[in-house]
Amino acid sequence: MQNYKHDVSPDWGLATQMVHGGLTRSQHAETAEAIYMTSGYVYQSAEEAQAAFDNSKPRFVYGRFGNPTVAMFEERMALLEGAEAARATASGMAAVFASIACLVKAGDRVVASDALFGSCNYIVQEILPKWGIETEFVDGRDLGQWRKALSKPTKVVLLETPANPSLRIVDLKAVCDLGHAAGAQVIVDNVFATPLLQRPLEFGADIVVYSATKHIDGQGRCLGGVILGTAKYINETLQPFIRHTGPSLSPVNAWILLKGLETLELRLQRQCEAAEKIAKELQGHPKLNHAYYPTLANFPQAELAKKQMKSGGTIVSIDLRGGRDASFRFLNALKLILISNNLGDSKSLVTHPATTTHQRLTPEQKEAQGITQGLVRLSIGLEDVKDLLADVRRALDAA
Ligand SMILES: *Cc1c(COP(=O)(O)O)cnc(C)c1O
Repeated sequence: MQNYKHDVSPDWGLATQMVHGGLTRSQHAETAEAIYMTSGYVYQSAEEAQAAFDNSKPRFVYGRFGNPTVAMFEERMALLEGAEAARATASGMAAVFASIACLVKAGDRVVASDALFGSCNYIVQEILPKWGIETEFVDGRDLGQWRKALSKPTKVVLLETPANPSLRIVDLKAVCDLGHAAGAQVIVDNVFATPLLQRPLEFGADIVVYSATKHIDGQGRCLGGVILGTAKYINETLQPFIRHTGPSLSPVNAWILLKGLETLELRLQRQCEAAEKIAKELQGHPKLNHAYYPTLANFPQAELAKKQMKSGGTIVSIDLRGGRDASFRFLNALKLILISNNLGDSKSLVTHPATTTHQRLTPEQKEAQGITQGLVRLSIGLEDVKDLLADVRRALDAA
């Protein structure tokens, strides 16, 4: 039996690529992507095995560093990001860690924005220094701080924009230029924006990382991560690190993420519209100091956000006047929106970062990152926006 020949065109739009891109059909000509549940592969001859290992005949060798279902997901992600190559990992943190660890050695220097996802902060603050790597945090909004920190030779710049949970924005173009002048590879954690709303490579970023657990699956089913960059970085620098350390994505999870990509554009459009509407409706609410949404006129960095992002995303962060107690009353009064530390899901979720995801930070670090006791992060899902607004309004009354 012959393998089914699958026509692809680079001219197809993104929605088409997200349904068909990267698909390789087996001899059975299945409609949907096949799940290849295999840890290893077999060879017709000893010579073929030798050729696989000396790379003279590229093929799948072992599940830790390659699988056809995972490869379909990687190819579809590369198409979406406009990157030369992609490698998938078992979680977003595996992606963040591998993307940095494959580049650095003792004596190197890493500069990061201070407002990072909690575990990304832990890697930079706790793990890298233990291995003799110098690390420095800067306020990601302040180009003066970036310029000063990047006046010394630097190996890696790590940043997140919009940042979790403050939604603070980093000027991608300016920081990429400063990073390159210092000799650094710039890694952007693009989880909050997703590849549909912001394309860091176009602003000069070298490497983009995702927790695919968030919007890419977007339906609360599995963990996953992706690293995207040049073919040289992915194949020559990252791939050996992944091959020998094993943060591999399972084929079943790759398949779930492929299905997530098929509906990503539709889901995101709806979630962003709802998030923007909710943020707008909450402006000036008497129980709030502020309702943050990156592209709203009163957002402190709205101009920059609009320059970099097609839309403000699916997250609204609100700052309640009554601090921790009011925040807890608000969370406990919500009926539809669920208390969770996750985000980017079809179900709307609410988080109190100061006591959960960012609990580990010192009071000074929390203040520097804008994580007040009254800050509450709302991840807007696919529900009817009028039900979400009613839930938020009623819970604010109770706060
Ligand atoms: C969730 C998240 C991660 C970590 O991803 P996991 O899949 O949970 O390991 C990293 N960065 C950001 C911004 C995230 O939101």
